[in-house]
Amino acid sequence: MIEIKSLFCGYGKREVLKDLNLHLRRGEFTGILGPNGSGKSTLLFAIAGVLPYRSGSIRIKGEEIAGTTFRFRARQMASVPQKSELSFPFKCLSVVLMGRYPFLSRFGGYSRQDMRRALDAMEQTETIHLAHRMITEVSGGETQRVIIARALAQETEIILLDEATSSLDVAKKIQIFDLLRSKSDRGTTLLCAMHDLNLAALYCRRLVFLKDGRIVLNGLTEETFNDENLSRIYETDIKVSQHPITGSPQAHFVPGPHRQPESSVYGPVGRGQVLGPGRTDC
Ligand code: ADP
Ligand code: MG
Repeated sequence: MIEIKSLFCGYGKREVLKDLNLHLRRGEFTGILGPNGSGKSTLLFAIAGVLPYRSGSIRIKGEEIAGTTFRFRARQMASVPQKSELSFPFKCLSVVLMGRYPFLSRFGGYSRQDMRRALDAMEQTETIHLAHRMITEVSGGETQRVIIARALAQETEIILLDEATSSLDVAKKIQIFDLLRSKSDRGTTLLCAMHDLNLAALYCRRLVFLKDGRIVLNGLTEETFNDENLSRIYETDIKVSQHPITGSPQAHFVPGPHRQPESSVYGPVGRGQVLGPGRTDC
């Protein structure tokens, strides 16, 4: 569904992504993890086609995205950006309806079906009560859920989410991720940049860890999410145990006085080094 080969990409003279290779299958629920500044958002911008790449290739369903139109991309992929770009006082319903924009005919307005899809997405994200409120007058968490509703209303096969639930309380995070999982079960391919390691381990089947613009680890959650890999990538002592209900691996952070000396357990990942047992090219 998404195939990235030898991707080099950045801003001006600043090279961020270096020789990145990634292949994601249809319906896969993938978490993009890694420290601040490792290139997660940059990768999502490149896939969304809003950041031109220097070299390499990104193919969506076999189509090289560099040559595609905004309309083509918007029919394939919906994005939930890290920073909301909405500073105009649109009603939340109008924001969600924007998800239908790529499907409008040249002369027609929104159809009843477009309205139905927007309202369904607002019901699913529990934002229907905000429909007639201005997007500039709702909270950060409410804005995030409205933008997620816009992405769902777009009804694309791929959804890119960049820290999309960072402002939500724990119950709302779980509700949104349950919803995302149900979409993934029905074939939607999801790529989520996340900071919340435990949420990623609970929901994502595959984890891709970036560091300094390179993939240092890529594999199934149960194979990659362990003490050694996490401690080395985040450069702090992290212990992993099993979730008592689901059995998923869950991370525990170790406060100062209890941390083991850095050199003994979690020396940083070296340049170009790849951690096991994940692969960087799958
Ligand atoms: P992450 O999402 O993993 O925190 P980003 O992809 O946002 O990381 O950033 C990767 C690197 O690119 C960082 O060093 C960051 O400072 C730099 N960067 C991000 N956006 C810009 C920009 N618009 N112009 C120049 N450098 C940028
Ligand atoms: Mg980011």
